[in-house]
Amino acid sequence: MAEEKNDDAALPPTEMIYYSYEGNFELECNSSKIVGITKDGDDDTVEVFLDRTVMHAQGGGQPTDKGTITYCQPTNNSEVVIAVDKVTVNRATGVASHRGKTTNALVCLPAVGTPVRVAVDADTRRLLSECHTAGHVVDSAMAKCGKLMRPTKGYHFLDGPYVEYEGSIVADERPQVLKDLQAAFKALVEEDIPTKIETLPEAEANEVCNRIAKNFDMKDFGGGKEVPTDIRVVTVAGFPCPCGGTHVRSTGNLKARKWGILGMKAKKGVIRIKYAKTHKTEQLQTRLHAVSLQY
Ligand SMILES: [Zn+2]
Repeated sequence: MAEEKNDDAALPPTEMIYYSYEGNFELECNSSKIVGITKDGDDDTVEVFLDRTVMHAQGGGQPTDKGTITYCQPTNNSEVVIAVDKVTVNRATGVASHRGKTTNALVCLPAVGTPVRVAVDADTRRLLSECHTAGHVVDSAMAKCGKLMRPTKGYHFLDGPYVEYEGSIVADERPQVLKDLQAAFKALVEEDIPTKIETLPEAEANEVCNRIAKNFDMKDFGGGKEVPTDIRVVTVAGFPCPCGGTHVRSTGNLKARKWGILGMKAKKGVIRIKYAKTHKTEQLQTRLHAVSLQY
């Protein structure tokens, strides 16, 4: 069956609650309404459009939030829960789509205007926020080590996160630079530096983000248009940059799971810094040690 495509051009842009500092920590919203909904195929998969949401839409190197949308079915007064597994946003229209399956049979689609409760899966969100924040701490550690290279990609997924920078580091220097970066990262976590999330006028965002090095072009972040726009600026470990992701309140929050820098890879003018929850590497080292003891 052909996939039904919802024309979201007619819908209002979705208010992304996590964009503000306090909204970044809101995990539930009881004041959302359905502005559009379509059913996909014959099963109970639906695509829901809301006026406002607490869920983070996949993008900017951060995976989608998962969670639930709950509403009351007026025909029989029963609660319908939609288990949302993918949130995306149309960057051109600002409309977010929540895709998921209803956990109970859908008698009919809810009407536009139906009030809903939106809840984020808190454990996953916390982990993804830590992962994304740790990626920014890598940026700050790079700056601390005098490596003011332009960040070109952030991959803040849990299956092997990394940040990439344009440029190169001489092969002989790499082991020492890696050691310095690991130490700088650790020190920034120890310092327990609060995260800042602000939405600034474009000119101000441009100035704030390019104060340390001229590495950010506002055009890459929705700016550079005829009419200047506002840009969301996130400052982690003292290092500001344009960002649309979710974060933890302070670098100290990365301590419990021992986030840290794992390694460095150099390839064709790109330096990739890999990072991880390092208790994983400790486990690995213990295992390797155990193996070496056997022989
Ligand atoms: Zn970011």
